[in-house]
Amino acid sequence: MSISRRAATELIHAAEMDLSEVVPLTPPIYETSTFVFENAKQVVAFNAGRSAKYLYSRYGNPTVVGVERQLAALDGAEKALLFSSGMAATATTLVAHLKAGDEVVCASAIYGGTLHLLNDLLVRFGIVTRFASLDELAGPEGLIGERTRVVWFESPTNPTLRCVDVGRVAAACRARGVLAIVDNTFASPMNQRPLSLGVHLTMQSATKYLNGHSDVTGGTIAGSSALLEPIETARRLLGTVIDPHPAYALGRGLKTLPIRIARHNANAQAVAEFLAADRRVSQVYYPGLRSHPEHALAAAQMSGFGGMVCFDLGGDYSRAERLYDRLQIIKRAASLGGVESLISMPVLTSQWGHSDEQLREAGVTHGMLRLSVGLEDPQDLVEDLDRALQEA
Ligand SMILES: *Cc1c(COP(=O)(O)O)cnc(C)c1O
Repeated sequence: MSISRRAATELIHAAEMDLSEVVPLTPPIYETSTFVFENAKQVVAFNAGRSAKYLYSRYGNPTVVGVERQLAALDGAEKALLFSSGMAATATTLVAHLKAGDEVVCASAIYGGTLHLLNDLLVRFGIVTRFASLDELAGPEGLIGERTRVVWFESPTNPTLRCVDVGRVAAACRARGVLAIVDNTFASPMNQRPLSLGVHLTMQSATKYLNGHSDVTGGTIAGSSALLEPIETARRLLGTVIDPHPAYALGRGLKTLPIRIARHNANAQAVAEFLAADRRVSQVYYPGLRSHPEHALAAAQMSGFGGMVCFDLGGDYSRAERLYDRLQIIKRAASLGGVESLISMPVLTSQWGHSDEQLREAGVTHGMLRLSVGLEDPQDLVEDLDRALQEA
């Protein structure tokens, strides 16, 4: 029989109920930091790994685990892990698999946060990074040295959407017992499945296409259970796990990923073709155009060309600035992969503060614009660009 309780106690415990008859269609948000056990035997069973129960949300939470299952299915992976951001996924993965004295070979065309993590932070723990150009990555066999443990790269790259032969880098890594890891944020697994091309692990910023509505920060890594085990332990120790609430929003976004990506691909192709046919635009970079330097490679390793388009107004900063400032539907904002079309100027964002020599190496000019093509009607996007180009 339950004991009688005073008001302060009731306020805390009155909402507890038997939920065994409650069967929701969608997985609930388990907004709880901890989980209840009935008795000491259950705790012992949990500690011995003989229990499906949960202990504490930094270790695991059912809302988060449900979304991790969606992500594993998406990547064709044995397992996936969720993090509080893409950078949390990257940092936790590298810390888990590297130690002092190890070397990372990293593509020089890489997300800025990844570059600074390696160059400014992990270097202080004795982890050394060697940066590799796209030409070097095209012949990856010579890149791997005695101390190399990880090769980390992206394809397509930011902002010029150049492509790396994912299978070839993976094969070179496998031949030398080195981990090949792809940041697949730009393509998303709907357009490119790196694990099926042979890489060991695939990382993504879930902030971008996976969630797709620009209202969640998250990150993920997928691969074999064996390779994810040390990463899961590191996530527990670093506390880089995602919260249940953003995990729920991400899980909802993921349900529409296939139809969103199909539309992103189609809209981007339409916008890229409009820009490529326009004499006011000097150059368009989109893997789905025949003029793209790796169009054939992209067609072979991708099932769609993605929603990112880059274009150049003759290297002219003032023209790029005028176009940027005059767009009405397309919003001026960092990030990508959401339903809203967003535009950025690489010299003000990813290449901010770079010297002319560094810009040349990255293939970036002062007149370049990077467009994340959203899910608006493509004709409205084309008309917005056309109007802004008239004044640029
Ligand atoms: C945004 C992004 C990241 C970092 O992800 P966050 O969720 O912002 O931490 C990593 N790689 C690429 C390619 C990105 O676009």
